[in-house]
Amino acid sequence: MALEKYRQKRDFRITPEPEGKVGKRRSRALTFVIQKHAATRLHYDFRLELNGVLLSWAVPKGPSFDPNDKRLAMHVEDHPLEYGEFEGVIPPKQYGAGTVMVWDRGTWEPKTDPEEGYAKGHLKFELHGEKLRGVWNLIRSRSGKYGGDKSWLLFKESDDFARLGPEALITEDRPESVLTGRNMEQIAGDADRVWHSNRSVAENVKGGAVRKAKSKPTVKLDAIK
Ligand code: MN
Repeated sequence: MALEKYRQKRDFRITPEPEGKVGKRRSRALTFVIQKHAATRLHYDFRLELNGVLLSWAVPKGPSFDPNDKRLAMHVEDHPLEYGEFEGVIPPKQYGAGTVMVWDRGTWEPKTDPEEGYAKGHLKFELHGEKLRGVWNLIRSRSGKYGGDKSWLLFKESDDFARLGPEALITEDRPESVLTGRNMEQIAGDADRVWHSNRSVAENVKGGAVRKAKSKPTVKLDAIK
């Protein structure tokens, strides 16, 4: 697992996304993050930390608590761990141009050996997020309908956290950022929140890239001129 593909697709002189490096293996709990990404099409980037990078899948419809909702999850390139902190705007004409929100985050607990499961195409794990809880599955789709071995399915295991029908639609019930409480429009409008890829994570945090959003006046300056 490495970040070559991730880096090839991006021009770090232009995009505020982190260039990143493969992190050290740590003994603490593994993190996960889900980023809502308004690119050409809206999708949810589902990312699980493993071996110093974030394994990543793009889920067009986002997660559902209904075990009957098997969500298409397109496997994409590994991302650096720092990417999990990124909420902001990827500039126009750059790879993935658009607004990125930290929609959920927390830790994940593999229910079976994660490396073996990842290689075999079946990950079963418990999520301890702010929005997502309980046991979930990511299974490589056999049909190949959506592009060979890149298509996986994300779905909820039946447990105490599972819900059915409209009650399961967490993406509609909780559309906001878990990092700042902002919606997509507010993130898009906050030009002061920029991730500098040539600085370390600590410097970015110190510089305010992931600070809580200030409350902004809702009246446009043009209107009060
Ligand atoms: Mn994306």
